[in-house]
Amino acid sequence: MNENVLAKLKVLAESAKYDVSCSSSGTVRSNKKGTLGNTVGGWGICHSFAEDGRCISLLKIMLTNYCIYDCAYCINRRSNDLPRATFAVSELVELTIEFYRRNYIEGLFLSSGVVRSPDYTMERLVRVVKDLRLVHRFNGYIHLKSIPGASRELVNEAGLYADRLSVNVEIPKEENLKQLAPEKDHKSVFAPMKYIQQGVLESKEERQKFRHAPRFAPAGQSTQMIVGATPETDKDILSLSSVLYQAPTMRRVYYSGYISVNTYDKRLPALKQPPLVRENRLYQADWLMRFYQFKVDEIVDDAYPDLDLEIDPKLSWALRHPEQFPIDINKADYELILRVPGIGVKSAKLIVASRRFSRLGQYELKKIGVVMKKAQYFITCNELPMKTLHELSPQRVRTLLLPKPNKKIDENQLVLNFGD
Ligand code: SF4
Repeated sequence: MNENVLAKLKVLAESAKYDVSCSSSGTVRSNKKGTLGNTVGGWGICHSFAEDGRCISLLKIMLTNYCIYDCAYCINRRSNDLPRATFAVSELVELTIEFYRRNYIEGLFLSSGVVRSPDYTMERLVRVVKDLRLVHRFNGYIHLKSIPGASRELVNEAGLYADRLSVNVEIPKEENLKQLAPEKDHKSVFAPMKYIQQGVLESKEERQKFRHAPRFAPAGQSTQMIVGATPETDKDILSLSSVLYQAPTMRRVYYSGYISVNTYDKRLPALKQPPLVRENRLYQADWLMRFYQFKVDEIVDDAYPDLDLEIDPKLSWALRHPEQFPIDINKADYELILRVPGIGVKSAKLIVASRRFSRLGQYELKKIGVVMKKAQYFITCNELPMKTLHELSPQRVRTLLLPKPNKKIDENQLVLNFGD
């Protein structure tokens, strides 16, 4: 590989690493003796998940890390003195093709700092994806970060070549966004989101009439919010997510624990560590809204505007609503079973399917995959009921289910444990 391109690759892959809309990028865990793999791919390679759940490797790169904006939370802001580089469109196209041919990657995650104007930058991003698709017949996955404030025409063109488009909200409340990123506003973010949605819906309609009509961003759109850089509560964050998920094309909202990269900026909180536990709880709450039929105001409300960091949001909800429990696992509706801590979507479906043949007891529930350690306080089944929430009190159950005090949470080991 050309030395000049290699040098640019190092700079621009490093600059892209703070964007977590690419799934593995929130965690830094290098390979250790006795372990297999790591979350830090060399050469700007990160892992993401395709629509069918497959893990795919992507070249995660910026077109340029020069930027005319000065967003306080960003490493690439114009006032930072750091190595800068810009790929020519042809360089980035060739690099992607070369990596793809060598089987290093299965796709591209492309973002950029803003140079000259949003449209000037977006036009170059579009050229990259257009050349990949039309000139090189590149058939791999492409996720393109749309530039806030980009015009409808350019967003519409990008959607013809990218699988997924995203525009980052970054800060949930506009007044706080203006404090940290004075050049941005919510309109510049929500307008391209709307163009993407219209493009996807129009393309679907077209394809119903004409089978070969072009597809538009078939993997929909996603966005990202920074957690902990500004005073928003979890209620503020999740309420916005809930609104965003009402758009039929919004597939994922990513939550990115604020990493203190610009410690000199006094507008930012002095965090020693990114708030990874909070980030994890937000993902769990997000999962509850998308797959467990929870409404946002059931998870967080004025009395509880922030998620409980010690226990997961589903357990927290159950302990605040003892009147809903215990439920009879052999009779209750699917929706209620889904609300039991320790029972995930797969287990709830299996319970409903299996109880048609015989009454279920502890043994069967364990075989189905129910985490009885948690669920036992919230259910009755085909045996004498165990001590439930009511015999023990919610506070006692909470104490019993808290992680052991000597079992310190290792933030690197946090898993998005949504199944229960
Ligand atoms: S526009 Fe993007 S790259 Fe530029 S400073 Fe803001 S967040 Fe960073």
